[in-house]
Amino acid sequence: MANHDYDLFVIGAGSAGVRAARIAAQLGARVGIAEDRFFGGTCVNIGCVPKKLFVYASHFAEEFEDAAGFGWTVGERSFDWPTLVANKSAEIERLNGVYERILKNAGVTIHQARATVAGPNAVRVGGKAVTAEHILVATGGKPFVPEIRGREHAAISDDMFYLEKFPQRIVVVGGGYIAVEFAGIMRGLGAEVTQLYRGPHFLRGFDDDLRHFLCDEMRKKGIEIRFNVTVECIEKRSKDFCAELDDGTEIAADLILYATGRVPNTEGLGLKEAGVELDDNAAIVVDKEFGSSVPSIRAVGDVIDRVQLTPVALGEGMWLARHLFGAAPAEPFDYDNIPSAVFSQPALGTVGLTEAAARSRHGAVDVYVSEFTPLKHTLSGNEERTLMKLVVDKASDRVVGAHMAGPDAGEIIQGLAIAMKMGATKAQFDATIGIHPTAAEEFVTMREPVVREGDEAAE
Ligand code: NDP
Repeated sequence: MANHDYDLFVIGAGSAGVRAARIAAQLGARVGIAEDRFFGGTCVNIGCVPKKLFVYASHFAEEFEDAAGFGWTVGERSFDWPTLVANKSAEIERLNGVYERILKNAGVTIHQARATVAGPNAVRVGGKAVTAEHILVATGGKPFVPEIRGREHAAISDDMFYLEKFPQRIVVVGGGYIAVEFAGIMRGLGAEVTQLYRGPHFLRGFDDDLRHFLCDEMRKKGIEIRFNVTVECIEKRSKDFCAELDDGTEIAADLILYATGRVPNTEGLGLKEAGVELDDNAAIVVDKEFGSSVPSIRAVGDVIDRVQLTPVALGEGMWLARHLFGAAPAEPFDYDNIPSAVFSQPALGTVGLTEAAARSRHGAVDVYVSEFTPLKHTLSGNEERTLMKLVVDKASDRVVGAHMAGPDAGEIIQGLAIAMKMGATKAQFDATIGIHPTAAEEFVTMREPVVREGDEAAE
């Protein structure tokens, strides 16, 4: 190892790269890291963190309304977008500093420059050549916008965090996490929002009850959602934009946001030249130990396009650092029961299998569903409802899916994810005492499974 400049050289100081670099350095490795944009990557700078701050901002409009039922009179309200953007940016700058300090304190050598792979053990960074026993590519991903006419006029999620002017009319294209989150944020902040999705129903891959429930709730909040529709082109006009749709209609907007997925950042990194295999989506192909087709070059996080979630990237980075420099060989990284939340309005939280997936994997399942008006809204008059759902494998009684739409869904599902990771059964959920009065207690008080068409025949 000592023949090289570094034991590990990490390209990209996002969630995965920073975690891998820090843990490796703490385990005694000589680590270098290169970053040419900002410390903390997408999540900290133009993703999860500022997005969640925007979600908080957008909730106030409803909360001011809700207050009246509790006797409060809220005075004149106004919203100032530049203040939100500036305050958010100041906090993100602070976090950049935190990430940089984490690396420095761990003894990682930082190169604030673009790096490219120059060979199995060689990297070019800031005009210099360095060598490393292991190279880790953790360059993340970037938004994908389909090839349509006028594509250059589309905004991407990166842009949303620095818009100078608040768009009063916005079209959101896509039906995934980012699209539903930004539809909710912009609506809450006062915009007219139209969301367009190419398929019959958005949030493909999520539990169907949750998808339908969220769509109804978003529509109740005034978001126009249109399914089975595609944008053919975007025209820039003198004062706004116009999206022409395949059903012959047009929509005028101040901003057209494309949230149509993210693709791995592998371009121009010298990977192909170094013999690193990429898949059709340009993701680095890796084995169970995150090794690429060139054994000394590894990759973790969004650039391998397995599960595009920050906590997964962190986990992969940590796993790899321990695998390379720790004492004990690690178990393979476990992708089972990964919980996630969509910060839509209401929020979604989910872990385990959807009802459909559980039926196809386990055959006979029991499904428990509870839909209700949260206690708070009995006085606020807010019409938002909450949905909770458990999917239980009949044969083993294990809870194989937990899904929720409602306030704090992510906070609640995180705890259930621990129980499910431990293999909790429905009987153990039932034996757990609820916390009253909370929404979360519903998860331990659902007693009667719903009867689905064909259930009896299956028994
Ligand atoms: P997603 O993969 O979640 O959704 C992409 C959406 O765009 C889907 O509805 C997809 O439709 C649609 N789409 C794809 N290609 C086209 C096209 N050519 N024309 C029209 N529509 C298209 O991606 P996002 O961009 O929303 O987010 C990227 C990733 O970031 C997510 O997968 C998620 O893992 C992560 N993320 C996580 C968050 C969280 O944890 N809260 C928040 C934000 C992002 P179809 O379903 O038909 O393919």
